[in-house]
Amino acid sequence: MEYGTLYVVATPIGNLEDITYRAIRTLQEVDIIAAEDTRHTLKLLNHYKITKHLISYHRHNEEAKSEELISKLKEGKKIALVSDAGTPGICDPGEQIIHRCLEEGIEIIPIPGACAFVNALICSGLETQSFLFLGFLPLNKKNRKQKLEQIKNSEQTVMIYEAPHKLKTTLQDLKEVIGNRKVVIARELTKIHEEFIRGTIDEIIEKTENIKGEIIILIEKSEKEVEKKDFSEISLEEHFSYYEKQGIDKKEIIKKIAKDRNTSKNEIYMYFCNK
Ligand code: SAM
Repeated sequence: MEYGTLYVVATPIGNLEDITYRAIRTLQEVDIIAAEDTRHTLKLLNHYKITKHLISYHRHNEEAKSEELISKLKEGKKIALVSDAGTPGICDPGEQIIHRCLEEGIEIIPIPGACAFVNALICSGLETQSFLFLGFLPLNKKNRKQKLEQIKNSEQTVMIYEAPHKLKTTLQDLKEVIGNRKVVIARELTKIHEEFIRGTIDEIIEKTENIKGEIIILIEKSEKEVEKKDFSEISLEEHFSYYEKQGIDKKEIIKKIAKDRNTSKNEIYMYFCNK
């Protein structure tokens, strides 16, 4: 018998209209929907008048349920995996069943759609070219410190998910390690009270007293390296690769190098042309 397929389907992060035609068609056509919280998913299905057999698949039963889903996929069933909001596997269950499908040679198809951090990033005003998504910060002291250090040194925009009642503590922890850097809070994306709050950590702590709803913290990349770096002490190749690692295109790199070294673009351009 031919194996079925697992469809990993993104659902809205608030506004029920944020779902693709393809996602709706997939949810209509599959045999089973594996949902993080079946009651939550029912609201979405009712909105789109979809009636389907639902199986619960959440953090606490991920292992056992993965096996149940695998046997159904092996019987040829088509299954859609959804989480409560956004993209499954992004701070939501999904990884386990995907690993098992890969082990068993079962096809997995992503059905793209909403993901909270992507939408926070694109409207944050921070650099979007290169970023680091860390999910929720660990609560364990040692692991948390490690992540905070990683944020401190990150030359990419950093994004973390956080619960509103923990925002103040997290901002204080952040300030202690990274300093009073610029951050953006993206709140209640796609919902009535959607907003972006921008400022230094101190300003944000003041502005977000009693904040409610779903939030994402975005942190401006570290400029430390750039400020401290004495470019005259490194070779042109190292200088080039410093910017290349940030995903900057060649023309822009040449412009930046010339500025850093107080020389002409042409001189830098000729150097690399003659190599
Ligand atoms: N799978 C989801 C995704 O694709 O983004 C993330 C699920 S995770 C359990 C929930 C966290 O995502 C929330 O605590 C919040 O940090 C963030 N989040 C989800 N929806 C959001 C929204 N509408 N506005 C802001 N943040 C949101």
